Amino acid sequence: MQQPKYIFVVGGVMSGIGKGVSVSSIGRILQSKGFKTTAIKIDPYINVDAGTMNPTEHGEVFVLDDGYECDQDMGNYERFMGVDLPEANYLTTGRVYQEVIRRERNLEYGGKNVEVVPDIPLEVLRRITLAQQKAGADITIVEIGGTIGEYQNIIFLEAVRMLKQKYPRDVAVVMVSYVPIPSTIGEMKTKPTQYAARSLNSVGLQADVILARAPVPLDQKRKEKIAIFCNIPTEQVISAPDVESIYDVPINYEKDGLGDILTNLLGLPSRDTDLSAWQAFVQKTKSPERELEIAVVGKYFKSGDYVLSDVYISVIEALKTAGYYNGVKPKLSYLDSEEYERDPNKLEDLAHYDGILVPGGFGSRGVEGIVLAIQFAREHKMPYLGLCYGMQWLTIEYARHMAGLADANTAEVDKNAPHPVIDVMPDQVEKLTKQDYGGTMRLGTYPCELKVGSVAYEAYNREKTDERHRHRYEVNPEYIEKLEAAGLVFSGKSPDGRLMEIAELPKSEHPFFLGTQFHPEFLSRPLSPHPLFVAFVKAAKEQKKV
Ligand code: GLN
Repeated sequence: MQQPKYIFVVGGVMSGIGKGVSVSSIGRILQSKGFKTTAIKIDPYINVDAGTMNPTEHGEVFVLDDGYECDQDMGNYERFMGVDLPEANYLTTGRVYQEVIRRERNLEYGGKNVEVVPDIPLEVLRRITLAQQKAGADITIVEIGGTIGEYQNIIFLEAVRMLKQKYPRDVAVVMVSYVPIPSTIGEMKTKPTQYAARSLNSVGLQADVILARAPVPLDQKRKEKIAIFCNIPTEQVISAPDVESIYDVPINYEKDGLGDILTNLLGLPSRDTDLSAWQAFVQKTKSPERELEIAVVGKYFKSGDYVLSDVYISVIEALKTAGYYNGVKPKLSYLDSEEYERDPNKLEDLAHYDGILVPGGFGSRGVEGIVLAIQFAREHKMPYLGLCYGMQWLTIEYARHMAGLADANTAEVDKNAPHPVIDVMPDQVEKLTKQDYGGTMRLGTYPCELKVGSVAYEAYNREKTDERHRHRYEVNPEYIEKLEAAGLVFSGKSPDGRLMEIAELPKSEHPFFLGTQFHPEFLSRPLSPHPLFVAFVKAAKEQKKV
């Protein structure tokens, strides 16, 4: 194998301008040139992983196959590149320091002074190399979280500088920058990008490519200005305007020849790009027959005056993808379940939707409103999909209203519930008592056996599946018989039959009423949508509104 190549992607001017989608798109393009490609996310937080971060701080916690809890960008990489990434591909400042300190305590540095520089960047590079080797990647793309100029990501930029100094021909730097059009001026301004390029210079790095994010495409004059002041050829300034859908991004970049620019910079052979499968999917997103109205009912995360739907990004993407495969465009409304607690008359509004989804969650806020919404879906025969907490509350709703257990609850909300139909998993009890919260839930991929003839089985069209999990509570085995006798079907179970993975009502009772203890959204990909999302959207499409 030839010398591995690295592309580092850094952010200029401000965050939230789509660095993750840029990394994912570059990955897709290079992959479709036949290069083995992997992607790494570096977050500058002290948190060791994303599992302990509040969603309002960090958005969705994405779970990998091996159970690592990481940043939502890893989900974008997996979706765009169609790969399963391992924990080696995610690192935070906390994780890097934890390892260096562990080694220092074990005398592994042989008594020498352990210094922030170079020991921390060296550990960063060790981890990047490890991820590259695990993937056997020709090209490793590394996204550095945050924005250039922040103190927080300086050790990571130092790692890039060290690698570039050692392998000048094998490292390329891409800066994703923002080019605003202030409304008072009405003109596209390149100065913030010029400053960002200089800040990058001040840490010993030069951008090779600038992806200029802007509301509209860059004109030739702005491209030239950025090229001159940021010291790169004009062709290496790529226009990255806002687009209708993130799935258009790889195609747009490829129109500007980004793939060839990068392979040239890295001294790789020029190869054709085959984006045909991707293009076929994008085509589907352009011509839906109609819109499909889906209510996503949950507790909503507010940051000041703004609602953060980012918290459910994988759910949103899975719904959209399943929609496109069904020839419809899902229009999602985020409904706050607390509204139904305040005013149950508002439940009637749910009748305007084609389907209802309750995503995963924790804690007691809004749960009684969720029960009301699930009851509404069941009684009005509206397609319902519950994910993790949404499955647990489906079970509680059924226990309360159909199995004669009026005060059924989850032990997560009421430790002394008379009927804890959802209870803490036996191996979680000690972790909770010891307040050992980080990375200790039931995490990652576990097998699930499907009941032949069930709604779930029909959707998957197979008897077994593997799905990703993130939970501490489960359906209490003591109540299974009672719930089954009342008509609830557990159509997915762990191979030993102990854990209830899917709960549903048979087709004869309801068009689609199903919940999963796992998170199918983590495995739904644009080119292979998740069967349960496809089945839910199909049922919603066929549903006549009440
Ligand atoms: N709070 C529930 C549990 O811990 C559900 C978790 C989730 O929805 N991810 O079991």
